Order: sequence, then structure tokens, then C-alpha cells
Amino acid sequence: MTKMYAVYGASGYGREVMPVLENQVAQGSDHDCQFVFIDDNPEADTVNGYAVYRYEDFLNLEAAEKNVSIAIANSRIREKLTTQCTSDGLNIQSVVADNVVQMHEVSIKNGHILSPFVTITSNVVIGESFQANIYSYVAHDCKIGNYVTFAPAVKCNGNITIKDHAYIGTGAIIKQGTPDKPIVIGEGAIVGAGAFVNKDVPDGMTVFGSPAIELTRENLIRRNG
Ligand code: UDP
Repeated sequence: MTKMYAVYGASGYGREVMPVLENQVAQGSDHDCQFVFIDDNPEADTVNGYAVYRYEDFLNLEAAEKNVSIAIANSRIREKLTTQCTSDGLNIQSVVADNVVQMHEVSIKNGHILSPFVTITSNVVIGESFQANIYSYVAHDCKIGNYVTFAPAVKCNGNITIKDHAYIGTGAIIKQGTPDKPIVIGEGAIVGAGAFVNKDVPDGMTVFGSPAIELTRENLIRRNG
């Protein structure tokens, strides 16, 4: 019987993850595999030629094995869906593009998606369900928590700690920390696109700009006039 591989989320990122997943599975020994999307709010029955199923319908499909890669940027939703899929007996499938570079002593927990051109250098620890979009990097001695999300081209330099559920926007640069004083991005913090972060960001805070400051009405006026 067929093995099923599903990308959860048939939107923009999901459509980018599907070919990477398909290529990854093609490198292995299983050839009787079917690839589908799962979406709770489907816009069409098929996307790029792949069937789109609502979650309940996916659960009812016959398959030898069901693997799900959750390609949704919102980390709270990702966590909720991970719990749901796991409790329904589905396997959470990590996805790693074939040109991803990982150097020495990289520890990364399950559920990650490493898009094309991602680089993780040496001595890096990463928690569950890390999502690293195209061209992002994580440099030496970084510690990344669970359900952290990188938009494209995030530059996470050495000795940086990023806590659970933080979101780093496109092209953000986080300045290198030091072994005794890493730069810390707090739990659930949001770093805006193009920001340059040169100091710690407290839990839950949104920062923007260069150098990055808290996103408040006053700061927006001060920066943008
Ligand atoms: N989605 C879903 N279940 C959820 C939340 C989201 O199926 O509980 C789907 C949603 O319908 C959309 C996709 O996941 O098709 C998420 O797309 P979004 O535009 O939020 O993000 P992106 O593709 O940029 O990650």
C-alpha cells in the first residue's frame, strides 16, 4: 500500500515546501508514495496538480503510513497542528532541501523545514519544528528554541539565543553575541523585516528598523516622520 506524504498548508510556503519534500523522498528507497496537501480552508481541490484534503478527509484515506510536514509560518498554529497530528497517529516529517549545508555538531529536533540555500554552521542547538525559509543562516554556537520561524534570508550570526516561538522577518540581521553574553531574542518576540538587532529583545516584544527598537506608535513616528 502507498505511503502518503502531506504538506499541511496549501498556501504560499506550502507550495514551496512540496517540491523539496518530493525531491527528498525520491532520494530514498520508497517509490510507491503519494503527495498531497492538507488545508482546513482549501481554495481549490488541487494545487499545482496535488490533491488538497481537509484534515478529517486526510485521516480517512487508506495508506500504509501517513507523514505530515507542517508548512505554516504561525508557530502557535504549528504547535497546535503538531499535537493534533501526533495524537492522531500521524508521523511528523522534517524536510531538508538537498543543498542545505550543516556543519559540525548540529543538533536539531524533529518537525523542521530547512528550505533551499539554508546554512547551519557548527555547534548549533535547535529545538522542535524550526522553520528556516530560503537563504537563511544560523552561525556557530547559536541556541534556537522550539517553534522558531525564520522568514527568507535571516542572518543569525554567532552566539545568539532565540527563545521559543520567536519570529524573525525577511532579511533581518542579528548581530553576533559573545560566548559570555549572547544576544537573546525573547520568547514570542517578533523581529521586523530588514531589522538590524544589536541588543537583547525581551519576551513578546516586536522590534523594527536599524538599529532595531520597539515597535510603538511614537517610535514609528520618530523613525519615519
Ligand atoms: N491553515 C490550515 N489550518 C490552520 C491554519 C492555517 O490549514 O489551522 C492553512 C491556511 O488555510 C493557509 C495556510 O495554512 O492555506 C497558511 O498560509 P498562510 O498564508 O498563513 O502562510 P504561509 O503560506 O505564508 O505560511
